[in-house]
Amino acid sequence: MLRPEQVRYFDNNATTAVAPEVIEVMLPLLKDHWGNPSSAYTFGNQVLKYIDKARCQLAEMIHAEPTEIIFTSCGTESINSALHHALKAQPGKRHIITTAVEHSATLNYCQFLRRNGCDVTFLPVDSGGQLDLELLKKTMRPDTAVVSVMYANNETGVIFPIPEISAICRNRGALMHADAVQTPGKLKLDVGDLGVDLMSLSAHKLHAPKGIGLLFARQRGKFHPYIIGGSQERNRRGGTENAAGIVAFGKAAELAVSRLADENTRVRALRDRLEKSLLESIPHAHRNGQAEPRLPNTSSLAFDQVEAEAVLMMLDQLGICASSGSACTTGSLDPSHVLTAMGISAARARGSVRFSLGVYNTSEDVDFLLHHFPKIIQRLRAASPE
Ligand SMILES: *Cc1c(COP(=O)(O)O)cnc(C)c1O
Repeated sequence: MLRPEQVRYFDNNATTAVAPEVIEVMLPLLKDHWGNPSSAYTFGNQVLKYIDKARCQLAEMIHAEPTEIIFTSCGTESINSALHHALKAQPGKRHIITTAVEHSATLNYCQFLRRNGCDVTFLPVDSGGQLDLELLKKTMRPDTAVVSVMYANNETGVIFPIPEISAICRNRGALMHADAVQTPGKLKLDVGDLGVDLMSLSAHKLHAPKGIGLLFARQRGKFHPYIIGGSQERNRRGGTENAAGIVAFGKAAELAVSRLADENTRVRALRDRLEKSLLESIPHAHRNGQAEPRLPNTSSLAFDQVEAEAVLMMLDQLGICASSGSACTTGSLDPSHVLTAMGISAARARGSVRFSLGVYNTSEDVDFLLHHFPKIIQRLRAASPE
């Protein structure tokens, strides 16, 4: 088994290391305070004060009210719930607008809704990965229930103009949902400034464990739950609370806010050095997507005449973790739907590698990568039939 000390981790958009500070705050809930928060006795309901604190920490990170936060099991559940609620809350409306470059949590749920009688429009993006807001305006219909777009793309890091999109939705009476899973600790998050009605987050992308997510739902009429069961989360999401996960998520939110500056200066500089150096030292290499606005940690690069899967295998032998496309589609030979939507050829998309850095990356990690990567490309190109 590989130990974390043995790897150079450049895949923070897939998942992140759990911060030691986060593990610390979880332990009391696993060891001692394991009662059911809904119990009548103190041993159970004393757990509620931990959950309340975490809800406040998360509310603070996104500038929301604590009551506007619904804990879920993951980003995928949050996204599915947001779309489900948007349709249930507006029974006459059956049209959804999303984009061609969303995460599979959105794309595949929208395909499911389409098979069940909804109309779904998948907006295209330009070669830089950006949306055309004039086209969005033209696509809006009186029966558009919700517009669901990502704040930042997990493959390219490209940032969509959420405040402008929210304003368009408000004018047309549609709800606005943002998949902001990639943004905590990287971008400032203020649901007021963003103008969103619904927003999804996932703890494992910000140095907390897997199995916990949240949906921000602006207070505005009844919320229509997706998971129906007990009265947890004020009847908005059934299921006994994942108290340890919630507490971890709360602490991770606090850390994310405190590390925003590091991510936008030191990590951004590491990303820029990595990207610039690879593009300069390797012929026929290209950046996928616009340079700005873009997440400070993400770089998607295409290398002609190689297969990314072969590159990743050689990186793996050196203990370097990176990815082609998203982790959710690795293993399929289809080129990335994100890169394809940007008009990138299937061949170039299949030669694309995503590097996503994080606060635990060091300058030495980047040096190590830069030392080995050009040689890998050279070796693969020399061995390729063309
Ligand atoms: C990881 C990710 C998701 C899914 O979150 P899970 O918690 O893994 O279900 C959704 N959207 C984006 C942009 C992501 O990066």
